[in-house]
Amino acid sequence: MKTVRVKKGYDLKVVGSPATELQEAERPGRLAVLPEHIPFVKPRLKIAKGDRVALGSPLFEDKRNPDIQFLAPGGGQVADIRFGPRRVIQEIIIELDETESSVEFERYSEADLDKMSREQLVQTLVRGGLWPLIRELPFRDYATSDFVPPALFIRLGSLEPFHPAPQVYLHGREELFRFGWSVLSKLADGRVHVCVHRDHTEWASSLDGLINLTYTGNYPAHDPGVLLYRMKSSSDENRAWFVDGQDVVLIARLLLEGTYPTERVVSLAGSGARDPGHRVTRMGAPLSLIAGEVKEHESFRYIQGGVLTGFGSEEYSHLGFAETALNLLPEGHRKGELLGLFDPGYRKPTYSRAFLSALNPEPLEMNCSMHGGERACIACGYCTLVCPVDILPQFTYKAVLAGEVEESLEHGLLDCAECALCSYVCPSKIELFETLKTAKADFYNERSRHADESD
Ligand code: SF4
Ligand code: SF4
Repeated sequence: MKTVRVKKGYDLKVVGSPATELQEAERPGRLAVLPEHIPFVKPRLKIAKGDRVALGSPLFEDKRNPDIQFLAPGGGQVADIRFGPRRVIQEIIIELDETESSVEFERYSEADLDKMSREQLVQTLVRGGLWPLIRELPFRDYATSDFVPPALFIRLGSLEPFHPAPQVYLHGREELFRFGWSVLSKLADGRVHVCVHRDHTEWASSLDGLINLTYTGNYPAHDPGVLLYRMKSSSDENRAWFVDGQDVVLIARLLLEGTYPTERVVSLAGSGARDPGHRVTRMGAPLSLIAGEVKEHESFRYIQGGVLTGFGSEEYSHLGFAETALNLLPEGHRKGELLGLFDPGYRKPTYSRAFLSALNPEPLEMNCSMHGGERACIACGYCTLVCPVDILPQFTYKAVLAGEVEESLEHGLLDCAECALCSYVCPSKIELFETLKTAKADFYNERSRHADESD
């Protein structure tokens, strides 16, 4: 078994980790899809408010590629379509029927899988609405279906606080995982890496030898972009694919059961969660239902995804298409908080020695405060020390701001794993990650536009 050692990164010790007990969340009365938070997709609606939909019927397609459709996570009536500024579609909300109707897709057995062509498999996943869960590096858009990737990473677990634990979401679903692995193996011509942290392999014996790549190191050593950076021998390998372990189970269910699978095991964590743990729910479930009771003494921000790379949501919002984590963090607007950087806080998480907490080995409470506004770079080099793909973020940032695209590419912009550590550790609060991520996406969009024009 190959082991990748990631020396850079940072161990984020944050309070509120989820317990490994799995609880069933209450059945939702409504579900939603959040097109706004699906990277790069340009949605074109296929339904209107008031329409009736079945589980698995199309709600919208991607204008860039109309074959890619996003399906209804439940059967019922389209109760609302919420638009944001510039008519961005934020949420499509479905009020569920007591008895939901569903679209029936073809079912396949293990024996059928052996006989299916790669093209048939692709079409099955595209029609079944799960293709966008397979993503392609370096831009992290959904994968290009007519391209055979140089590698496919199946990610079991994340080092970012907090995400579902694979031993929880795979428990009792090992056979489904194995079947999903066979599907992906066929798509990637056998070049599949099933990855787990080397210290977290005790539970993995139930997967009977499927794990073939371990890694060591701190956040974000789990990230497929970081693993690829450490393993690749040439830039030809840059377009590797990756899939989350939980999505492998969904892929298996779609083929074996013939219905659009929407079960989600979601981790509920953060210091605002009264009962942090894992919840079984459905794709698009209301966040308030997943959160259950919250602590009352403070206001919290609902973050979907990890505490560094996730996105903030309103309490009345819903779980995104590919999201499996809900973190509740205090807003951090306490009096005097804006001068937080200079507060000798023993309990503030920080990389910098500016806080006494650098000496505190205990997990610390993380909140949404920036601890002060942006200041000039003080050339401390922290961003370089943590960057897992050896970018010099402060210089790449300057190249991006100066519009020097070629220079930023030479700095390794496309290797950026979008981990947000550079912004997190920067004592001057410079938006390095946000700037680099946007520059990468702009480069991708521009390149795609040129490719479309020359077709
Ligand atoms: S540049 Fe920043 S966001 Fe990108 S990989 Fe390095 S530390 Fe992470
Ligand atoms: S961490 Fe911030 S202040 Fe330090 S070198 Fe990087 S950009 Fe400059």
